[in-house]
Amino acid sequence: MASTGKQTTDEPETAVETARRQLERAAAHLDIDRGIIDRLKHPDQVHRVSVPLKRDDGNTEIFTGYRAQHDSVRGPFKGGMRYHPGVTEEECIGLSMWMTWKCAVMNIPFGGAKGGIVVNPKELSAEEKERLTRRFAEELRDFIGPMRDIPAPDMGTDAQTMAWFMDAYSMQEGETTPGVVTGKPPVIGGSHGREESPGQSVAIIVREACDYYDYPLEETTVAIQGFGSVGANAALALHKWGANVVAVSDVNGAIYDPDGLDIDDIPTHEEEPEAVTTYDAPEHLSNDELLELDVDVLVPAAIGNVITEANARDVDADIVVEGANGPTTTTGDEILENRGIPVVPDILANAGGVTVSYFEWLQDINRRQWSLERVNEELETEMLKAWNDVRDEVETRGVTWRDAAYIVGLSRIAEAHQARGLWP
Ligand code: NAD
Repeated sequence: MASTGKQTTDEPETAVETARRQLERAAAHLDIDRGIIDRLKHPDQVHRVSVPLKRDDGNTEIFTGYRAQHDSVRGPFKGGMRYHPGVTEEECIGLSMWMTWKCAVMNIPFGGAKGGIVVNPKELSAEEKERLTRRFAEELRDFIGPMRDIPAPDMGTDAQTMAWFMDAYSMQEGETTPGVVTGKPPVIGGSHGREESPGQSVAIIVREACDYYDYPLEETTVAIQGFGSVGANAALALHKWGANVVAVSDVNGAIYDPDGLDIDDIPTHEEEPEAVTTYDAPEHLSNDELLELDVDVLVPAAIGNVITEANARDVDADIVVEGANGPTTTTGDEILENRGIPVVPDILANAGGVTVSYFEWLQDINRRQWSLERVNEELETEMLKAWNDVRDEVETRGVTWRDAAYIVGLSRIAEAHQARGLWP
């Protein structure tokens, strides 16, 4: 599908449209061979497989699975595997392109991939989910591997899913191959700190953005939408570092205390799903009201497309740091840009997840587990490097943080293509 260019309505773009538009925006600042840009608009390969599952009642049902592999010029493909009824080939392609930029902005030697199965995981028993995962691993076996393509958990999949996937692959290959997936339980080669890492990186980027814009962290107010893996871990880290996290939310609504919430006390999504609003706070708000709070920093960390044409004029935060993937629509982004509100993009802020996945892969290949302290130290180092690279582009080119991040990523990918040339 071709890019529609600048959107005139706030119809959310498809992931492919967004990825192609961002590619063109970044390319306009760089002197890159047109052939390389055109190659990057298309995935290297998209695998579509049928995955038969014997249901618990004895019937056989066929599910469709995908694996989109966008670009591997800098290293093996890397990206999540989701189980969701809304999975489409096009969405997998778009998300695989985002993964290419995300890995490049972090300077991780991976390219982008994304995949999944069109299935509602809530309608599967644990045994069915295991059988489906094992068969999916077998259907994809020729296309994946520690040096080819390394899946990870995403919506509807978790560490247990990765453990089944890794076991199925290893059994068929005849050798234990932990490096075929990341996000595994630590007992079979998973990394300490992997679960907390996207939220941790969001917190690091909020801290750096506050420093850059002269907001002392102890005097900074932060509102965070979503109190799941990303939102809660970001909130916990920021609270620990002295920031005033004044509002958090889950799907049921938000809680607000202008003097700062006691984040350690609020049940996270993992501890007690969707229990934020049961916490005794001075004020209860809707998710929409949270997005419009007068705070220093707003972190949308729940779902996509929440800052839109409809509410971007009412966002009252001074800085936005994207914790979720794609929380700001194109029009929402333009409105914030025109209002002078900086938006630090997802491909930088939540990239701690793929960064610690890379650490996990290194640990698996070297057969040596790192301590949590080492993981956190190296994550901090990598996040600061990426932050500094993006900040340099913001300062030298006078572009937005989003454009700067894409410029950093695209330069690296294009240079690699230039150096390797075109085969044959
Ligand atoms: P999660 O399921 O752990 O938590 C999601 C949170 O958002 C929950 O508190 C849930 O109640 C809330 N929520 C759900 N629907 C909502 C709605 N309509 N309005 C307000 N809140 C709502 O998910 P997560 O892993 O924290 O992921 C959050 C976002 O971050 C997603 O966009 C995801 O793609 C992105 N992300 C996740 C990771 C990761 O490794 N977990 C890495 C990078 C990016």
